[in-house]
Amino acid sequence: MPGPAGDGGAASAGRDDAHKGADVPRDADAVLDAEFFLRWMDALARAVDREAARLTELDAAIGDADHGANMRRGFAAVTAALGKDAPDTPGAVLMLTGRRLISTVGGASGPLYGTLLRRAGKALGDEAAVSRAQLAEALRAGTAAVARLGGAKAGDKTMLDALEPAAAALEESFAAARQAAEDGAAATVPMLARKGRASYLGERSIGHRDPGAASSALLIGTLEETAR
Ligand SMILES: [Mg+2]
Repeated sequence: MPGPAGDGGAASAGRDDAHKGADVPRDADAVLDAEFFLRWMDALARAVDREAARLTELDAAIGDADHGANMRRGFAAVTAALGKDAPDTPGAVLMLTGRRLISTVGGASGPLYGTLLRRAGKALGDEAAVSRAQLAEALRAGTAAVARLGGAKAGDKTMLDALEPAAAALEESFAAARQAAEDGAAATVPMLARKGRASYLGERSIGHRDPGAASSALLIGTLEETAR
């Protein structure tokens, strides 16, 4: 396929000035190709593996202590699926990732992350490369789908508290998105949980970081790392 997806040098965001020519996309910012998305999902799978114990610890405080194990199992399946038959567009990478998470992760996080990534992947369509602005728009669409599925909104102490500000900040930069996700996850500590298992605890949910917001910060943090 012609275009930046076949051009390994253009896989990193914002530094492909050496590649001016016939294969430069019309939108010169559209440098995030399938290879970039594959590297992002690989970095995320490694981060989830590394942080699984911490995610489970957070879930033990206000949930059922399975978030780390669930996410690790899901992303191991994602790594296997993407390694076996790597999709050749950004949208297809996210949609396959979402499908694997839905089919392998128990509890609420599989359907929620699956919905986020499938909806974002659908929003990217079948373009060979997308811009940061297009990804920001896609993540906004995915985050809105998560909010509908969970019947939740920002401030309810869920993954949305990291994802919503991150998707908005991605309009500005990858670094701003990462900071927004980390700040958003930290902001869940004093919140009262209004959705999910943690809401059963009522006031006792206060004082703990939401595990879904913590794993969402890994999603956005590894995006920023991949774009460096
Ligand atoms: Mg759990």
